[in-house]
Amino acid sequence: MTINHQVRLAARPVGMPDAAVWNLTEEPVPDPGEGEVVVKVDYVSIDPAMRAWINEAASYIPPVKIGGVMRALTAGTVVASRNPGFAVGDAVCGMQGVQDYGVSNGADLTKIDLSLAPAETWLGCLGIAGLTAYFGLLEVGAPKPGETVVVSGAAGSVGSTVGQIARIKGCRAVGIAGGPEKCRYLTDELGFEGAVDYKGEGVAEGLARTCADGIDVFFDNVGGETLDHVLARINMGARIVICGAISQYNNTTPMQGPSNYITLLGRRGRMQGFIYFDYAEKFPAAIADLLGWRAEGRLKFKDHIVAAGVEAFPDTLVKLFTGANFGKLMLKLPG
Ligand code: NAP
Repeated sequence: MTINHQVRLAARPVGMPDAAVWNLTEEPVPDPGEGEVVVKVDYVSIDPAMRAWINEAASYIPPVKIGGVMRALTAGTVVASRNPGFAVGDAVCGMQGVQDYGVSNGADLTKIDLSLAPAETWLGCLGIAGLTAYFGLLEVGAPKPGETVVVSGAAGSVGSTVGQIARIKGCRAVGIAGGPEKCRYLTDELGFEGAVDYKGEGVAEGLARTCADGIDVFFDNVGGETLDHVLARINMGARIVICGAISQYNNTTPMQGPSNYITLLGRRGRMQGFIYFDYAEKFPAAIADLLGWRAEGRLKFKDHIVAAGVEAFPDTLVKLFTGANFGKLMLKLPG
């Protein structure tokens, strides 16, 4: 009998999620019912949004229930099928959660072509990270050639892709990231025109140095005071893309909003949030662009893969909030 190792939500966290939030469980791998498939999970995507999913309050999707298997995007392989749309051996991306095996009726599954890219790339660069960067920047940020695009969380999976797409579209890219190694990666390996180390020099000073002519598009992954510093330097007609606010996700005090939002008024700016899956109909065209840029060497992407069982999930998740990840964070499950 094959055992399915799982991570379940034991309690809602206060602040940073610690071990008490999770429960490790084991049960036999179920057989698929009529119309269902069983997927062996190969990669679990570790995403900042997970922190919102385990709060009591609904975010843009309902919270994970206490006792439920932790929700996660996954890449895996169909190992049993009673669904005519899927055959044993199919490679798929889906929402199997933090467990070795998941049962699906197929609604959440997308077949992936491993001859075009490996499974981890479908989960990261061609999946949540690449698509979030692509639609947030191009549809919401609407950058024009010659404009200055600033991105926070810039060395991360979404942020690094945003800056590179901005450059592909003829913009100047400036990234805000934590530490000299991540900043050097932005300028020396990815070609960003500027980088601001928010843990070294102050964000205000760094933006004054790198964005003397102001900021036209800001793609915000971080929120908090970073957003305030950027708003102070926006140009006429600036677009502020609210992608995330990772600096605020573990707050035990109320979320810090922008204190100087009124600069949007004088500079006729716009601030807009988005969720990447709202653009699902356009995913094939976006993936074709991302694949093309990768093939031309114009889009680089770093994976941060932790090869371990599901029991490593709690510690791995925390890496996102301490900046210990460098690239798209994933668990690679054994087998
Ligand atoms: P990531 O950037 O690869 O990893 C998270 C990074 O955030 C860390 O490496 C760290 O980088 C930075 N960070 C953590 N705490 C911070 C703090 N207090 N202040 C400043 N930076 C901090 O993660 P990702 O998966 O690409 O996600 C990036 C953002 O996109 C998140 O806000 C996420 O919620 C958002 N997102 C939104 C959508 C959407 O549809 N709207 C979809 C996916 C992701 P440093 O070392 O540089 O501090």
